[in-house]
Amino acid sequence: MITVGHLINGENRADAARTQDVFNPATGLATKQVALASKETVEEAIAAAQAAFPAWRNTPVGKRAAVMFRFKALLEQNSDKICQMIGEEHGKISHDAAGELQRGIENVEYACGVAELLKGEHSKNVGPNIDSWSEFQPLGVVTGITPFNFPAMVPLWMYPMAIACGNTFVLKPSERDPTATLFIAQLLLEAGLPAGVMNVVNGDKEAVDVLLTDVRVKAVSFVGSTAIAEYIYTTANANGKRCQALGGAKNHAIVMPDADMDNAVNQLLGAAFGSSGERCMALSVAVAVGDDAADALVAKMSAAMQSLKVGVATESSNDFGPVITRQHQQKVVGYIDSAEADGCKIVVDGRHPQIAGYEEGFFVGATLIDGVTASMVSYKEEIFGPVLQVVRVNTMDEAMQLINDHEYGNGTCIFTRDGEAARYFSDNIQVGMVGINVPLPVPVSYHSFGGWKRSLFGDLHAYGPDAVRFYTKRKTITQRWPSSGVREGVSFAFPS
Ligand code: NAD
Repeated sequence: MITVGHLINGENRADAARTQDVFNPATGLATKQVALASKETVEEAIAAAQAAFPAWRNTPVGKRAAVMFRFKALLEQNSDKICQMIGEEHGKISHDAAGELQRGIENVEYACGVAELLKGEHSKNVGPNIDSWSEFQPLGVVTGITPFNFPAMVPLWMYPMAIACGNTFVLKPSERDPTATLFIAQLLLEAGLPAGVMNVVNGDKEAVDVLLTDVRVKAVSFVGSTAIAEYIYTTANANGKRCQALGGAKNHAIVMPDADMDNAVNQLLGAAFGSSGERCMALSVAVAVGDDAADALVAKMSAAMQSLKVGVATESSNDFGPVITRQHQQKVVGYIDSAEADGCKIVVDGRHPQIAGYEEGFFVGATLIDGVTASMVSYKEEIFGPVLQVVRVNTMDEAMQLINDHEYGNGTCIFTRDGEAARYFSDNIQVGMVGINVPLPVPVSYHSFGGWKRSLFGDLHAYGPDAVRFYTKRKTITQRWPSSGVREGVSFAFPS
């Protein structure tokens, strides 16, 4: 069985002392193993990144950008192969994998323009013959820790810009679907990146804890579940590191009585069940305003769900695939059970999908639950599966209060034809990313991505302009060249 290893100082390495199975979630079979890095292995990766930093920092920014241009071309040339790797370990259907990769490539494109983004600020004559400017210097060794659900895109949110800004990087991908992530990182070498600038260590908590505590690591970007995000943020901060830690979500869509209901249903189908609901921006709660809207939504939604196809990644007519592990499958089914026990109506029940030939796969069918209320565990917690919950309220303010009261604040959406209502919603809702008739308002690469409340710990969002600030520190220089023969006397007053 193949063991997926690490990339350290330009070389592939395996760390055989501890390994973990990697599954094909469609068959339920272990197909590979992944090496779990020891403390020493992670320290070696950090040392490689540290050694590569001085030369990379001083490499002209245009040359750093040129690597990104070649990297983008290689990603496009290898896209089919990458999507296949994602399908085999994550289970997402090829068209969905292609979408994730494309959104990742767009971050590389943005990093290609790094020279423009690092220009800095200049002021002449801030005092007599004194000029001042601010520049943005790289931090040194920075690290990224990423989740299973976007093995291509989320790492690409991080290291292209970090590296383009002159940092060196150690990535710790998800141990559940590591192959595509490692393959993509290796393409950077082919694109001409010097060895040691980009390193990948596979592993678990043992590897992460080294990255959080080693004094040579200057900044930590994390994406994953909220409990771990909070741990990463507090530990990184306690160790003097800059940190951005993006966590979990529970994204609500308000369906107003005036919404184009057929359009809302179509949008909700993709946003709730696409990628088996394993997206941090998945719309998992529909808040219907008024019983008429709720009844229409449930009737049309349940009818449309009859034709959804859950199955294997390689069959492009499938709408979505399995969830990531057997344990997660049981967890999702457990949430549906708990909603039923709480008195909800399971309008469409996906707990027992029949996928011919894949009986051992980790499949959950699309599920629609009506009559959900704010006190239920299945409402409070992130399910992260193909489950859409319907909450019924009487007014838009009630719907907004529900969203504002929720622990998470990642994404949200309103379906309406009323511009005034939409404007009031976007202005007052306590959520970081807002859609108006747009179900998955994932910002494009030249904006930044991040939730509010317990969906993000830290100040700067991921990718886009915030990434340039996150991966650099400002230095402000004030300069005077006294003319020969002219010298000022001593002054003890504060300069003004
Ligand atoms: P996870 O938190 O289990 O794992 C994320 C990373 O943390 C992995 O690399 C994992 O190895 C590491 N990790 C896990 N346990 C750890 C521990 N105890 N100590 C140190 N490191 C640990 O998340 P997941 O299941 O891979 O991903 C799904 C979660 O990620 C969902 O909650 C989803 O909402 C969230 N997510 C959020 C965003 C966002 O942008 N806000 C994007 C994608 C996914």
